[in-house]
Amino acid sequence: TMSTTSEIRRTFLEFFVRNGHQEVASSPLVPLNDPTLMFTNAGMVQFKNVFTGSETRPYSRATTSQKCVRAGGKHNDLDNVGYTARHHTFFEMLGNFSFGDYFKEQAIEYAWTLITRDYGLPKDRLLVTVHSSDEEAAALWRKISGFSDSRILRIPTSDNFWSMGDTGPCGPCSEIFFDHGDHIPGGPPGSPEADGDRFIEIWNLVFMQFEQRGPGDRIDLPRPSVDTGMGLERIAAVLQGKHDNYDIDLMRGLIEAVAHAAGTDPDGPAKVSHRVIADHLRASCFLIADGVLPANEGRGYVLRRIMRRAMRHAHLMGCTEPLMWRLVPALVRAMGDQFAELDRAQALMTETLRLEETRFKRMLDRGLKLLADETGALAEGDCLSGDVAFRLYDTYGFPLDLTQDALRARGIGVDVEGFSTAMERQKAEARKSWTGSGEQATEAVWFDVRERIGATEFLGYTGTSAEGMIA
Ligand code: ATP
Ligand code: MG
Ligand code: MG
Ligand code: MG
Repeated sequence: TMSTTSEIRRTFLEFFVRNGHQEVASSPLVPLNDPTLMFTNAGMVQFKNVFTGSETRPYSRATTSQKCVRAGGKHNDLDNVGYTARHHTFFEMLGNFSFGDYFKEQAIEYAWTLITRDYGLPKDRLLVTVHSSDEEAAALWRKISGFSDSRILRIPTSDNFWSMGDTGPCGPCSEIFFDHGDHIPGGPPGSPEADGDRFIEIWNLVFMQFEQRGPGDRIDLPRPSVDTGMGLERIAAVLQGKHDNYDIDLMRGLIEAVAHAAGTDPDGPAKVSHRVIADHLRASCFLIADGVLPANEGRGYVLRRIMRRAMRHAHLMGCTEPLMWRLVPALVRAMGDQFAELDRAQALMTETLRLEETRFKRMLDRGLKLLADETGALAEGDCLSGDVAFRLYDTYGFPLDLTQDALRARGIGVDVEGFSTAMERQKAEARKSWTGSGEQATEAVWFDVRERIGATEFLGYTGTSAEGMIA
């Protein structure tokens, strides 16, 4: 019988608990003590200080299923959602961690045992990568899996080398891929066709072996560590005999809830929209449950972009009434068991979605009409002018990625540079027309804005969220 996503999560955690790991709850999506990071985007985030040694825990091995959002900052998969088989904005990352306890050999041994014995994956559908400099990992894979070198690919790029930042722990990674079959376009990792969805990365093992102390100054860590991440939805797809993450029980249930509420066919021409809405519903609700509210800056602006992108897709499916808020019960039913915060925040999620949908509805209708007028004469390969994209942003509340997504199916791009120029121009005019207290006060206002918003990593879009406050 086929395992459910919940069972697959349990199997992972129990395997590592059996092997001496402490099960630790997922941390919130808003990192507790890291203002430089937009959202929790990996399992290791809550353990950062344990890895650097500035914090200690009563255990040296841990396992988690971590809530992650990759929709802003360095890792941004927003544009992939709806179009690849393997990307979500919100997903769960399963992980096992060794804080100076076991290292490479044990980590590979655990991973191999779990996927081939407990999960029962066939060996001949698996492939692994190591960093070109890591002969040790290649040798261990040969020994533990029995693979020949043809299934142990050496990758010289940063894809297989992880670092926390310019300084701090770092080291080579080894990734495990599943071959979904030659009927799917795509090549093995490292090949020119690697971007396809045939070989899907299911698990990334990071070997924290060095400490970078400065440029060109790297030392061996006396007690190296391990950090791994496996996408729950990706392993569920493999185990449920599906190629596509969106066909697993959990995502399929949400997609059917969308179709039911909208009165649409989930596999018809609006298939992409159903996927986008199901994904964005999860991201929006989990962010709200962790205290993020829609806003014109920072984290709240990323949430707003996700919500509005989903709302356009609801419009595309012909929904004339707000839709997202009606889907909250389906999400709570599907995931409330594992995540009590969904239960607690149900009313807040519902009201936040309904308010944002109601507010944006009229602007969306009018903005889409403007967009249709402005692009009527454009053809595939053309570009929408930056001025129009900016007017949509400024007057109709269209985040840039919403406009880009709206034109994507027709193969029309957006002049992003022109958009930024228009933004800069407006910013300059806002400065000029500032009559309050002269130039210095104006600078102070902008300084405050920048201070409050912080580093570029923190910006959803470099440059756009701050200006949104004035717009
Ligand atoms: P990809 O190359 O497919 O984008 P990645 O290398 O960016 O994945 P990692 O940063 O190594 O991903 O994250 C660890 C694991 O988390 C991946 O092996 C994958 O299983 C899962 N994962 C990463 N990004 C996503 C996403 N956007 N949606 C679902 N699962 C993801
Ligand atoms: Mg990625
Ligand atoms: Mg990758
Ligand atoms: Mg990876």
